[in-house]
Amino acid sequence: MTIQWFPGHMAKARRQVTEKLKLVDIIFELVDARLPLSSRNPMIDEILNQKPRLVILNKEDMADPAITKEWIAYFKEHGIESVSVNSQAGNGLDKIVKAAENILKEKFDRMRARGIKPRAMRAMIVGIPNVGKSTLINRIAKKNIAKTGNMPGVTKAQQWIKTARNLELLDTPGILWPKFEDPETGFKLALTGAIKDSILNLQDVAIWGLRFLESRYPSHLEERYGYTELPDDMAVVFEQIGERRGCLSSGGGVDYDKVTDIIIRDVRTTQFGRLTFDIPPKKA
Ligand code: GDP
Repeated sequence: MTIQWFPGHMAKARRQVTEKLKLVDIIFELVDARLPLSSRNPMIDEILNQKPRLVILNKEDMADPAITKEWIAYFKEHGIESVSVNSQAGNGLDKIVKAAENILKEKFDRMRARGIKPRAMRAMIVGIPNVGKSTLINRIAKKNIAKTGNMPGVTKAQQWIKTARNLELLDTPGILWPKFEDPETGFKLALTGAIKDSILNLQDVAIWGLRFLESRYPSHLEERYGYTELPDDMAVVFEQIGERRGCLSSGGGVDYDKVTDIIIRDVRTTQFGRLTFDIPPKKA
């Protein structure tokens, strides 16, 4: 599901997340491992308001593994725990529970010391559209026992997924908006499929993608498309790729839209290998 955001939607989304914050001990902030910064909500810190949080870098199978490690180190330097997972395959789910236990250890120790009966950790997943929230929830649900009913003391019916491992997860995620104010972020979100294909001009997105590959992953670009360097005139590139891949229009010329689709599909299906678009900011 992809949503186009308007101020009204944003306010509503924010309100929905804020309302549910009090039901949980910890927030699982889901981001795309290929763009751990661009796929975050721009106001997330303010919205979470000091709530304990675990950042989950999802789709690790599509991201550059070396840079994923750098991101985890970066978040740690900034006092944020993070783990990387592949929700589609169900890899890394144990890491989530373990990390949450660590983050909440003091709180639960304190509760125990005060004689409060031990209970499972309560968590909610939040993230922008398409980052994999439903996939992760389904994974956790499938691996574990069925849903429980309402929580005592909670007026609105909330379904919780009770897991075997000391964790209860709200079955509906909090959906937040991405930021695409600056063109670079927009291109990254579009290229990875995080925002609707009708929001940006796809030819621009494909061109940005090729230039990105040229600067960050030149060997991947060369392997797949045969370029060590891209010519200045992108029309030439489109002509060449189109001819090679048989993207001809009925009139006989190269169909630029088909070439555009091929480039974007190649990125999204990891034909260029595992790519990460956001690089952690360097230490000052
Ligand atoms: P939501 O909008 O955040 O709930 O996102 P979805 O759960 O619907 O996932 C969006 C798309 O990403 C779907 O096509 C999923 O199959 C895919 N997806 C989710 N998690 C992963 C992952 O870890 N790896 C890969 N390769 N794809 C994933």
